[in-house]
Amino acid sequence: MAVYVVILRCQKSLQRIHPIAELQSPNAPTIMWFRQDLRLADNPALCAACERGDIIPVYILDDDGADSWKMGGASRWWLHHALADLNNSLNQGLQFFQGDALTILRDLATQTNASAIVWNRCYEPWRIARDASIKSVLKDDGLDVHSFNGSLLWEPWQVLKKDSTPYKVFTPYYRRGCLSSATPRRPTAIPAAINISENSVRSLPLKDLNLLPTISWDTQMKARWDITEAAAHERLDEFVMDELQDYREGRNFPDKANVSRLSPYLHFGQISPNIAWHRAAEAGAFITNEQSLDTFMSELGWREFSYYLLYHFPGLPTDNLQVRFNLFPWADNTDADLKAWQQGKTGYPLVDAGMRELYSTGYMHNRVRMVVGSFLVKNLLIHWHAGEQWFWDCLVDADLASNSAGWQWIAGCGADAAPFFRIFNPITQSEKFDKQGSYIRRYVPELANMPEKYIHAPWLAPAEVLAAAGVQVGHNYPAPIMDIKESRERALAAFAVTKIQPTKAQ
Ligand code: FAD
Repeated sequence: MAVYVVILRCQKSLQRIHPIAELQSPNAPTIMWFRQDLRLADNPALCAACERGDIIPVYILDDDGADSWKMGGASRWWLHHALADLNNSLNQGLQFFQGDALTILRDLATQTNASAIVWNRCYEPWRIARDASIKSVLKDDGLDVHSFNGSLLWEPWQVLKKDSTPYKVFTPYYRRGCLSSATPRRPTAIPAAINISENSVRSLPLKDLNLLPTISWDTQMKARWDITEAAAHERLDEFVMDELQDYREGRNFPDKANVSRLSPYLHFGQISPNIAWHRAAEAGAFITNEQSLDTFMSELGWREFSYYLLYHFPGLPTDNLQVRFNLFPWADNTDADLKAWQQGKTGYPLVDAGMRELYSTGYMHNRVRMVVGSFLVKNLLIHWHAGEQWFWDCLVDADLASNSAGWQWIAGCGADAAPFFRIFNPITQSEKFDKQGSYIRRYVPELANMPEKYIHAPWLAPAEVLAAAGVQVGHNYPAPIMDIKESRERALAAFAVTKIQPTKAQ
């Protein structure tokens, strides 16, 4: 059961006797319920609230309905810092609560005589259900309740095929469905006046939300990220000015600076996709490589597509979208392999570098996400759910839509997925995209002195090369946990089973 920790000074019974509407004065404040929109700029709900007059900005930690999708450790860590930043921007006026959102909002409205509650929409299935019920109860209470689109360029229900069914393939969805419909709205500025209504409701101190880890595994993460709205804008500006030009090619190389690394800011709404979209479009006028701009925008389109799939296929986080994968013969007794993968000790340097980047920084480059994902699902034959859950706990950008869609894509069971037989070879991927091994050297220091020629497959190096580099395969760096060629054959044989369509009884 949810713990309701806010201390409210007035009598709860008041609410039952007097409908909230009767208590409202013409200057009644509006409750601005922040969720995954932790910013002041281009925040439609905040703008609407400020236009009405005084506001009561609140954040409620309420993920009891999320079941296995409660925020993971890295997300909670990020959230703490994002909330601290938003609270600073609001002159310490953000009020924090934990518990059942409906109960808290109703009591808050009663205690503060608020006339309205506004928020920006979220799209996780459990949140859609919760928010719909909250909206209906609050409206029955006599409150003015409005929700806005603060997270997506196109609402999922607005983009449909001619026959009114949802798209399942990215390119027609994006090119025909999105790009040929309305241009994403232009971002709005921070409201000119944000007047925070004083009230006597005692909120929790941020630290009492217990979002920070008790064991300090966050040292490297702290050094890596500046978790503020201002930093998101700085990063976007830097990216569009310096790196967008070569994005199309550069985005494939994990050690290059050519990706935006905006995903956690976008996930928590510290920057809106509209700001990213229009800022890139403006900067695009000054770059010579137009394809880079198109590719960057289409990556924002992939984010939209993930939300679209989650909205239209709410089973996305758990159910194979292609049901024939329900027959897939996953391997048994995989605990040791899974652990080696999680710890970055598979003996395949690019995979290990990616998994260690993930654990130490909360982020992993997209190319490497594909390589480690393919390795887990195809070479180790471990169910994609295991990878999805590990990412969920470790990523600072863990996002139910993009993570589920990413894993379904990798496993080949998604709506518009990589074909199963596309099995990334971690050695050739490494040779191609981290030729000099600089990404590997950064995250796998045991291999720092390996020459370029052998860093991608150290077990193939002659003894004297290994000795000179201080590498002892099987001792200070693991021997490969399986053979790439054999495991590829095993994966293809397993995949053959899925070609039989399951009957209803199955
Ligand atoms: P850029 O290349 O700069 O792209 C700009 C933005 O576009 C990103 O910030 C992101 O919002 C969006 N984007 C880019 N690629 C994708 C994509 N393939 N799918 C959806 N959106 C995309 N992304 C998440 O935000 N959260 C996740 O939990 C997540 N899990 C993933 C799991 C797997 C197995 C895979 C293969 C991909 C996953 N992605 C996820 C997508 C992608 O890897 C990240 O969005 C990207 O690496 C973030 O880095 P960036 O901000 O530098 O991206």
